[in-house]
Amino acid sequence: MKKIVIVGAGASGVYLSLLLKQQMPQNQIIVLEQNKSPLKKLLATGNGRCNLSNRKMHSQYYQSDQLKMVQSIIQDFDMVEQMQKIGLYCVYQGDLLYPKSEQALSVRNVFMQRSEEAGVVFQYEQEVLQIQRQKHQYLIKTNSQNIIADVIVLAMGSEAGKLSGMNTSRYEILKQMHLKVVEPVPSLVQFYTSPVLKSLKGVRVKGTFSLVENEKCIHQEKGELLFTDYGVSGIAVMQLSSFYQKHHHYQLYIDFFDELSHNQLCQLLSKQSSLFLEGLMNHKIAKAFQKYQYLSIDQLVSLLKHYPLEIKGIREASYAQVMKGGLSLKEVTEDLELKQYPCIYAMGEILNVAGMCGGYNLHFAFASAYRVAKAIERNVYVKNS
Ligand SMILES: Cc1cc2nc3c(=O)[nH]c(=O)nc-3n(C[C@H](O)[C@H](O)[C@H](O)COP(=O)(O)OP(=O)(O)OC[C@H]3O[C@@H](n4cnc5c(N)ncnc54)[C@H](O)[C@@H]3O)c2cc1C
Repeated sequence: MKKIVIVGAGASGVYLSLLLKQQMPQNQIIVLEQNKSPLKKLLATGNGRCNLSNRKMHSQYYQSDQLKMVQSIIQDFDMVEQMQKIGLYCVYQGDLLYPKSEQALSVRNVFMQRSEEAGVVFQYEQEVLQIQRQKHQYLIKTNSQNIIADVIVLAMGSEAGKLSGMNTSRYEILKQMHLKVVEPVPSLVQFYTSPVLKSLKGVRVKGTFSLVENEKCIHQEKGELLFTDYGVSGIAVMQLSSFYQKHHHYQLYIDFFDELSHNQLCQLLSKQSSLFLEGLMNHKIAKAFQKYQYLSIDQLVSLLKHYPLEIKGIREASYAQVMKGGLSLKEVTEDLELKQYPCIYAMGEILNVAGMCGGYNLHFAFASAYRVAKAIERNVYVKNS
């Protein structure tokens, strides 16, 4: 019998525990979790609806130092089929995959019930602080105990969104083991802007939004933006934030009328009389634009199609959905086993893999757990035979 310890009862950790116990019921599977309960972050995903995956699944929607490996992991995993196997029925809404229940809570319940029934042992309020090699095994030190393990899986996620803890022990463990960690920075997060358009707080705009540096467009998103009292939020902004780099200066350009060309909008405005922009766009925005009444139609159209906001920075990790950065994929094999530490694996967001909004991060969390489950099964079988 082997003792397999998973560090972290998040999406990837709990799913792996279930796969391992189903594949190899004779082995002892222990999950160590620093929180008082499992899957806290999962409950918050997709605004509580849990966007599990995306029909357009490709490494082009990820950032990492080894996109080829990411592609191989994500394409080997069929979310709908694998979730069905554990009793979770999922359906597409457009390109986005959700549980039929549209409740992250039901996903958590299915996962926990299945893994507890299978005999996985969960230990809570166990923060892993150190991992040391001990002959052919490893010693794990937590805040209250020492455990010897044959196989360890690192599934500590990231500090994004606060729900998996803001402590730095996850990265400290890796650094003590002399593993390369790419500096984690918040991604899928809101922007601080100048000016802050406080009068528009709460107003949503559909349009095209461009992240621009030195007049060069870095990335463009069509979608929705939300004005807030610190800057801007919304899915389009979150997506653009994944292209943001520290120490660079960016502008955000808003095209309020992306369905119309410059000339078409000029024609539309030339027919407007004293109402100015009222009736053409959100009332609050129309009111805010009244100060530009002195502009020619051509100038006004230029402003409506390229409205500039200076980006003063991104919001902090506690507001982000993921962290870009983490354990470099150069430290792991195709099986996600650490090259320097046989029988230690890493998966999910602790790795330097960050996806866009739209189910890409949960897909990678589950797909990487699936890859690790297959590798451990092979590995333990070879060593036992
Ligand atoms: C608000 C929000 C909404 C999101 N919505 C979506 C969405 O709809 N679709 C999508 O694809 N992605 C979404 N994401 C991202 C997605 O939730 C994560 O990428 C995914 O949960 C990562 O899974 P994981 O298993 O790697 O890590 P996590 O789920 O973060 O789990 C890691 C676990 O490890 C524990 N841990 C950490 N360090 C230690 C330690 N030293 N000792 C013991 N335990 C430790 C943590 O407490 C945590 O329970 C969202 C994220 C947030 C914050």
